[in-house]
Amino acid sequence: MSPPVTRFAPSPTGFLHLGHAHAALFAARAAGAGRFLLRMEDIDRGRCRAEFDAAILEDLAWLGLDWDGPVLRQSTRAVAYRAALDRLDALGVLYPCFCTRKEIAAEINRAGSAPHGVIAPDPGRHGAPGPVSMDGPLYPGTCRGLAAAEREAAMARAAGFALRLDAAKAAGLVGELEFSDHRLGLTAVDPLLLGDAVLGRKDIGTSYHLSVVVDDAAQGISLVTRGADLFPSTHLHAVLQALLGLPAPEYHHHPLIEDGAGARLAKRSDSRAIRAFREEGLSPREVRALAGFPDGPSGQPC
Ligand code: GLU
Repeated sequence: MSPPVTRFAPSPTGFLHLGHAHAALFAARAAGAGRFLLRMEDIDRGRCRAEFDAAILEDLAWLGLDWDGPVLRQSTRAVAYRAALDRLDALGVLYPCFCTRKEIAAEINRAGSAPHGVIAPDPGRHGAPGPVSMDGPLYPGTCRGLAAAEREAAMARAAGFALRLDAAKAAGLVGELEFSDHRLGLTAVDPLLLGDAVLGRKDIGTSYHLSVVVDDAAQGISLVTRGADLFPSTHLHAVLQALLGLPAPEYHHHPLIEDGAGARLAKRSDSRAIRAFREEGLSPREVRALAGFPDGPSGQPC
């Protein structure tokens, strides 16, 4: 087996924190004799800032991290995301959604108070009281059933719209899938877990889920390491990989680190930021220790 290609993929919406440092060191260590790549997930133009991008690179270097090749910035990848959406559209698994957040919330409330709720089955799957995903409550499917004429008219009228995955249709196309996690073993994919997720946001034309899948394949990532909070997303990512004919990487979802020590050590409001530790005079080794890797990517985690 060839040595793994891993990546660290921060979003430059703020300064690098201890949790990010843990994720970055984890990915660099997992690469071993392979390659460790860096990707800036900067699709969200409203929230990402060049100064955070620069600060993240600087903090990573200060921590002693070195990555292979140039940094891939998702803001340069719109054409690839569009091509992926076109491919999904050709498979008939996308539909335009005109709902606002408010309308979705109202629809969920309405359905929830109806004698026979119509929202997705299996409430509590994420340990929460209702069907939710990391993106919020599962979409109740309002725009999925629009008749062709209604859809055309709405598209002509709307200033913009989102593109959602028809998860049930996608499930029918991909059949049974599983993904492999180095810590948790093989998991059977539940294509309905995140519901009809948005793949093309109205404002930016793509989404975290679509971009991450397209770019992991484009960068040849063979081992995706990331926090366990993203485990549910991997179900959707496996479906997208199958639909788009992309290779399925291996995964290692690691537990998120405790930040109690950081909060005690740094007194600023941004208490877990690597900057704060730097300003308080901690050494890279001390900060790496807080992030669980005192000896850097080649050492053992503590
Ligand atoms: N950009 C995501 C984050 O900062 C990480 C995505 C991933 O590792 O798949 O949380």
